[in-house]
Amino acid sequence: MKNYTKLYINGEWVAPDGEGACQVINPANNQPAGSVPLGNEHDVDAAVQAANNAFLSWSQTSSVKRAEFIGAIAARLNERKEEMGALICSELGMPMSWSVAVQAGMPAGVMASHAEFPVEMELEESAGSSLVLREPIGVCGFITPWNYPLHQIVGKVAPALAAGCTMVVKPSSEAPLNAFLLAEIIDEVGLPPGVFNLVSGPGKAVGEAISSHPNVDMVSFTGSTRAGIRIAELAAPTVKRVTQELGGKSANLILEDADLEAAVTKGVSDVCINSGQTCAALTRMLVPAALYEQAVQIAKQAMENTPQGDPLSDVFMGPMVSEKQRETVCRYIEKGIQEGATLVTGGVEKPSGLESGAYVKPTLFSDVNNGMVIAREEIFGPVLCMIPYETEEEGIEIANDSVYGLSGAVWSQDADKAKAVARRVRTGQVSINGGGFNIVAPFGGYKQSGNGRELGRHGLDEFIEIKSLQLN
Ligand code: NAD
Repeated sequence: MKNYTKLYINGEWVAPDGEGACQVINPANNQPAGSVPLGNEHDVDAAVQAANNAFLSWSQTSSVKRAEFIGAIAARLNERKEEMGALICSELGMPMSWSVAVQAGMPAGVMASHAEFPVEMELEESAGSSLVLREPIGVCGFITPWNYPLHQIVGKVAPALAAGCTMVVKPSSEAPLNAFLLAEIIDEVGLPPGVFNLVSGPGKAVGEAISSHPNVDMVSFTGSTRAGIRIAELAAPTVKRVTQELGGKSANLILEDADLEAAVTKGVSDVCINSGQTCAALTRMLVPAALYEQAVQIAKQAMENTPQGDPLSDVFMGPMVSEKQRETVCRYIEKGIQEGATLVTGGVEKPSGLESGAYVKPTLFSDVNNGMVIAREEIFGPVLCMIPYETEEEGIEIANDSVYGLSGAVWSQDADKAKAVARRVRTGQVSINGGGFNIVAPFGGYKQSGNGRELGRHGLDEFIEIKSLQLN
């Protein structure tokens, strides 16, 4: 069990000004997993000051040197992958093998993929008589959630380092331990003091202080739409750049000629992975009416066959992140039943033998229409809504009938047709016939799923200011 008592500010572990500790609970058994300090607005001030002081020299560090630091952090993340995976398993509850691969391995890959970007900051272009330059935006504040906690931090830290920005990171209170291990790694590789600072604590105190701080140039936020709106409001008076990666209610559009078995089974595993706590989860499955009953039976089988249990054992699904999250998900399950959807499998009772953790059974609703609350709001749990449609046009219409626009999927044996339909889905990414998440492709949302992109070259752009030299 890791009990961190200090914050990482200006290249040192320092005692916080804020009092008390944030207890981290292992949701598999509701026992303590560790703790981190509860920072406050004075700690944010100190961290922003350090980031400000470090900015000038870090932004002028050669691209080769910045690439070396990024490579060194990636290598250490990779070396400590098992330890990181176990830590995230203990705070989040994702099964160990998945946690090592997805929660620890993927961010190591994301960090490594950014080593090629520092040199891009040197690109210049001509525009008539002007020379157009790229410069780092400055001091960045990063506020992140718990569901892919390290990935979401690294998706911001890596491009910021590449661009030459300095930063203050505030991790979630549910899964903050991984951020402290990252800080240890950053300390080990000798990143210059003040470039990376870590202040844990409540969203209200620490997150709001970062969002409104006059010396922070940009806030990058991942989390709920509710908090994202609040952060944008707080950032407005100081005209910060704000990027937001928010919620989703993504549609899995299965066309008439799709491989139904493959599409439905993959759709179920997509909703169950990380206990459904995935912003891009395909939680609305849209199926041609003629194939609907068959699809429901395939989904039921797949859900009931999903191994669930102690994250330290060989299972696909563990608990929710917390009892609180379990309660939220159960309220939605009850709502779905009240609204008249058919509960095909799952429900609000804990799975037998798993009563001491925050477990929710994989849950399937049929007879859902897109107007129901369970089809409109993000549940953030292993709950799949199956919605029938009559024509392809109607399927696309239902897919787009959401305030969100984060992700989606289209299945058809005719890949060209699938791509044509995908172009009409108004979301930041669309998986074609099960195409997987790609760490170098831009990720982000349309509509109320956010602003801006992370990962790859487009992710770097968010951290760049453009300067024109008007030549004579
Ligand atoms: P959350 O919004 O409650 O918290 C996210 C972070 O914001 C935490 O660090 C929290 O402490 C902080 N925060 C909360 N209120 C704040 C405030 N008033 N001011 C400043 N900071 C504040 O979200 P969560 O419950 O941790 O995460 C789940 C949500 O995140 C889901 O809605 C999910 O869809 C979304 N999410 C989106 C993406 C994406 O890339 N689009 C990725 C992962 C999660």
